[in-house]
Amino acid sequence: MKGRFTGWVILFFVILALVPVFIINSAVTIAKILGIILVVAIVAALWKWRIQTRERSPRNERIKLNTNDKFWLEKNIPFYQKLSKQDKQIFEDRVGIFLADIKVTEINKELPEKETCFYVASSAIIAYWGLPFYNYGNINEVLVYPSNFNLDNSLNRLGAVEGKVHHGGLMNNTMILSLPALVKGFQIDNDKKNVGVHEFAHLLDKSDGVIDGIPVGMEEELVEIWLNVMQDEIEKLEKTKSSIPNYAASSNPEFFAVAVEYYKECPSLLKRKHPQLFNVLDCYFNKD
Ligand SMILES: [Zn+2]
Repeated sequence: MKGRFTGWVILFFVILALVPVFIINSAVTIAKILGIILVVAIVAALWKWRIQTRERSPRNERIKLNTNDKFWLEKNIPFYQKLSKQDKQIFEDRVGIFLADIKVTEINKELPEKETCFYVASSAIIAYWGLPFYNYGNINEVLVYPSNFNLDNSLNRLGAVEGKVHHGGLMNNTMILSLPALVKGFQIDNDKKNVGVHEFAHLLDKSDGVIDGIPVGMEEELVEIWLNVMQDEIEKLEKTKSSIPNYAASSNPEFFAVAVEYYKECPSLLKRKHPQLFNVLDCYFNKD
């Protein structure tokens, strides 16, 4: 793409330089034609650039957060509290973009509560924080259930599932979160658990087409190290007590999602207890 662009720029300047040459040599008609070609080319380039920038920009106008919203984030989102002033601004902008693009639906409510929307958006932004992209696996809706639910997405008092992403089928672009579990993830900081972040980490894993515990955009050399570290840690988890929650040992995708929760909520503890695991995740999330 870059090479093609340079080619066009060189051609543009060659034609531009030819115009006075033709005028000096009394070939005014040719100079006029070249002038017209240049004007048409500039208009076409500007038109194309306008279409491309429109495609790249968010689908909808970003929602602007007011002072009360920022105060709410400061009070309820520990990850946000710890950010620098500049990063807080980035976080707020991303919350606004998320809520403009992705629908949050609270079951049994006509409109979702603003707080619920902020919890969902914050989960997504935390999970993707540090990466050079944030498309949230192209989901278009997050359903928030009033309690934990069953594996078939039905609701009754026996439900134990706190969150779920779908792979394929009609609900491919939908995530489900249980409201009490979602809120608890933020209320208890430093317990390495946040179901919202966990589910969005699954989207990072899913975005490359397979849910296999390897997230999208992880470079090949790092994937090799990651697979070794993951296997090592799962084996240790099965044999001895570990600071990583046991659920991580159930599969590679669950290990990745649990590790991301741990890394995002208690990075210094992870660095101390599992330095190799910390290094791989830190490398993935801050590769610039
Ligand atoms: Zn999971």
